[in-house]
Amino acid sequence: MTSTPRRVIAHLDIDAFYASVELRRRPELRGLPVIVAGSGPRAVVTTASYEARRFGVDSAMPAARARALCPDAIVIAPDFEAYRRASGEVWSLVREQVPVIQSAGIDEAYLELSEEPFPVALLRALVQNVRERTAMTLSVGIGPSRLVAKTASAHFKPAAFVAMSREQAVAHFAAHPPRVLQGIGPKTAERLIALGIRTVGELQAAPTQLLAQRFGERMARELHARAHFFDDSPVEPVRIAKSRSSELTFPTDVADAAALERALVGMAHELGEGLRARGRRARTIAIKVRLDDWTTVTRARTVEHFTNDSETIAVISLELLRAYAPVRPVRLLGVRVASFEDESPAPSPQSPVQLVLPV
Ligand SMILES: [Mg+2]
Repeated sequence: MTSTPRRVIAHLDIDAFYASVELRRRPELRGLPVIVAGSGPRAVVTTASYEARRFGVDSAMPAARARALCPDAIVIAPDFEAYRRASGEVWSLVREQVPVIQSAGIDEAYLELSEEPFPVALLRALVQNVRERTAMTLSVGIGPSRLVAKTASAHFKPAAFVAMSREQAVAHFAAHPPRVLQGIGPKTAERLIALGIRTVGELQAAPTQLLAQRFGERMARELHARAHFFDDSPVEPVRIAKSRSSELTFPTDVADAAALERALVGMAHELGEGLRARGRRARTIAIKVRLDDWTTVTRARTVEHFTNDSETIAVISLELLRAYAPVRPVRLLGVRVASFEDESPAPSPQSPVQLVLPV
């Protein structure tokens, strides 16, 4: 009999990251509802302190709505340069202790600890060290896979410190909606509800054939594996792509604006879901249009706040497409996002990128 080597993976997430950076330099705001958001008419909430979240304020919510929900909140404009610096402080402390780290955004990362003799003790010391030296609180999920670790930290934060076996995760999250599982976005969740599947437990028990009919063999297997918290994806300390895109070449060229817009919205949602699954947010949203004569045009806009909200990506893509208004039938349509919050500074929002590339 062969025994599978023990895997120990931790997911670390800085609690209310942007708000914590602000509270660190303005301690008089501690204990108060704080919302970090811009002030433009289309501004969205970058983050909110837990005191503000109690009023229903959440990331990516329109700032106006957040102000209405929590009128006493103190609203602070985001300072992304400060956030990048603070993020660097935390992760360099972590890197001093753990060699294999995979960044999953400005405020979260996976740690490979399988070789560590005492991973829990190491993490306890790390959390304390980070708190003392940076005034940031980490939520920690520990498990045999990235999926268990991430689900645990996300569910029990703030100040979480939870270790779970796969079996414990299977039991613990059975009554929760499938959305708690990373990779299951709102669209998939809706399709599951249409099949009468409202919980992780119901997904665990769903006949694979039923899932395969609705989602195809591959995705059905993946959904089933996730519901049972099977995940053997490695912690990969690689730099992640600088941009993500989704493209579609139409079977026949499309002149109908409504059809183009539908396709664009679909791609925007797909991209948003992918970004959210990876915990990444970007500021530059671009479209690519290739006409039937192979004229290829890209249009991009850099928005004020980092986003992974499908709706925001869709709205901006649509505006870009409407402004371009293709004069000939369209052969290929694409949406791309770039300038991620966890990399070097994005172009200033005052100087939107406007590229026209005839090919
Ligand atoms: Mg966080």
